[in-house]
Amino acid sequence: MSVWLSGVGIARGIAIGRVHKITSGDLDIPEYALEPFEVGDEIKRYRSALRRARGQLKDVKSRIPEGTPGEISEFIDSHLLMLEDKTFSVAVEDLISDRGVNAEAALKVQRDTLIGVFERMEDAYLRSRRDDVEHVVQRIWRILLKHDKPLVPKESGGDGASVVVADDITPADVVLLHRQGIAGFVTEFGGPLSHTAILARSLGIPAIVGMHGARRLLEDGEPIILDGHAGHAIGGPDRHALAFYQHRRQRDARYRRMLARLKDEPAVSKDGVEITLQANIELPSDAVAAAEAGATGVGLFRTEFLYMNREAPPDEEEQFLAYREVIAAVDGPVTIRTLDLGADKQASHTRAGSPTVVNPALGLRAIRLCLQERDLFRVQLRALLRAAAAGEVKIMLPMISNVYELKQSLTLIADVKAELQREGREFAADAQIGAMIEVPAAALAAHWLARDAQFFSIGTNDLIQYTLAIDRVDDEVNYLYDPLNPAVLQLIYTTIAAGRAAGIPVSMCGEMAGEPQYTRLLLGLGLTEFSMHPSSLLEVKRIVRESDISSLRATAQGLIETSDPDVARSVIETLAAA
Ligand code: PEP
Ligand code: MG
Repeated sequence: MSVWLSGVGIARGIAIGRVHKITSGDLDIPEYALEPFEVGDEIKRYRSALRRARGQLKDVKSRIPEGTPGEISEFIDSHLLMLEDKTFSVAVEDLISDRGVNAEAALKVQRDTLIGVFERMEDAYLRSRRDDVEHVVQRIWRILLKHDKPLVPKESGGDGASVVVADDITPADVVLLHRQGIAGFVTEFGGPLSHTAILARSLGIPAIVGMHGARRLLEDGEPIILDGHAGHAIGGPDRHALAFYQHRRQRDARYRRMLARLKDEPAVSKDGVEITLQANIELPSDAVAAAEAGATGVGLFRTEFLYMNREAPPDEEEQFLAYREVIAAVDGPVTIRTLDLGADKQASHTRAGSPTVVNPALGLRAIRLCLQERDLFRVQLRALLRAAAAGEVKIMLPMISNVYELKQSLTLIADVKAELQREGREFAADAQIGAMIEVPAAALAAHWLARDAQFFSIGTNDLIQYTLAIDRVDDEVNYLYDPLNPAVLQLIYTTIAAGRAAGIPVSMCGEMAGEPQYTRLLLGLGLTEFSMHPSSLLEVKRIVRESDISSLRATAQGLIETSDPDVARSVIETLAAA
């Protein structure tokens, strides 16, 4: 009999294979007292487990396939850093000797303390980092208990490939399992923001998280279908379900092959409107994926990732080299966003010791933080302006909420330029400076901001969050996150119109720009520049090439007047099918 299970789909695609259950977290942790003379040997046993854990992770790192997004080795590095940290070495050794208990038990005490700290954090992203602690602890336990055989299932290829079903999977194991060619994976725990989820998306492995009871309800070795988009799995499917999903998988593969052929085709609509399709990237190494998707430049380089997971911010030279690397790797203009730290993107070195804020998304983040931490900002601006001399670079300021912040930033940039000039350094005197429109106040003031900004880029992720007053990382209010809310559409349209009236380009770099279902709507609203995750680019290009923009305008602009998002949704469906 078939069993249907659902969870949160985190990486698209259909996987058909056989259940391979693994239990990474179900270890029985022994706890016993040591005789005083045993303590020294126990500490040695623990140290050797730490060494072995480091060795395993370095091995995983060396096996990361070429062309894999840089963030993947960053995850492994963050686990390596934890293993080097005193919280895992000295603190656990002290517990072994102070309490006279075995290494596994001492590690359990330390784990509970650390997890407690993470769970009390306000910020959902940081809370989700508790998974990293858990993964590192599990690795050490497995070694101590000699349970550290790789979690690698036997492959038989085709529809017999393994679909791993686990309580949880570490990012390092995702890399290994990917190398083994698993078809997909399901975990009982973990959320869509976890590093494991991000990795699955980057590697294109169909996956579902939060599928409670999966290990109990699915039988080892039984056939399984996993739909990573819808977030459901069918254990023991009947032949009709199998035939249906095999057909869908083939259709998806055919569709992807067709899209790949569009890579070098122009993004021009049927009625001859040229549309710019660019990529959003997070690390210099992501520029490769952008080029492979046929992006004509980078519309958003999120620089804050250069600042995260480290003790001190990167210095001018390090940033200069990172920006230069991106500029050299990208064929086309590169829009580099200045530091957008704060809220869900924290770095331990900025404002360490400042009081915990109740609403970090409304707090000192992005340009607000930069205008207060001027030294930090100046270093970035110097590096940016210097690197910009090597190509076509635009500098984009995040979370501008009033004209004053824009003017202050421009004054600071002029000051930094004058300083570089005095030092006789090479820099881009004419790099364009633009504002992100991601706060409702900025959208409403766009006609004023357009007097000073040389371009706009609409950040719908935050614009929707702030317009609808919903925390974008809070699962409980996710259902309210609606790009089609008429208030959101009006703000988008107002921004596009203000840009057009002032003669400055307007781009969109929030997730909405990469959602194919909204492409026609945005084209009809007059958007001509889109920046998105490289994986969406070819599909959006297909829609652009099949659209007659002049015929979309009336319907799209009519939607602005629609008060009911459900009506808007049905119009969108009609547009999408046009
Ligand atoms: C946005 O807010 O839409 C955006 C692109 O910025 P981020 O997602 O980095 O906040
Ligand atoms: Mg934003």
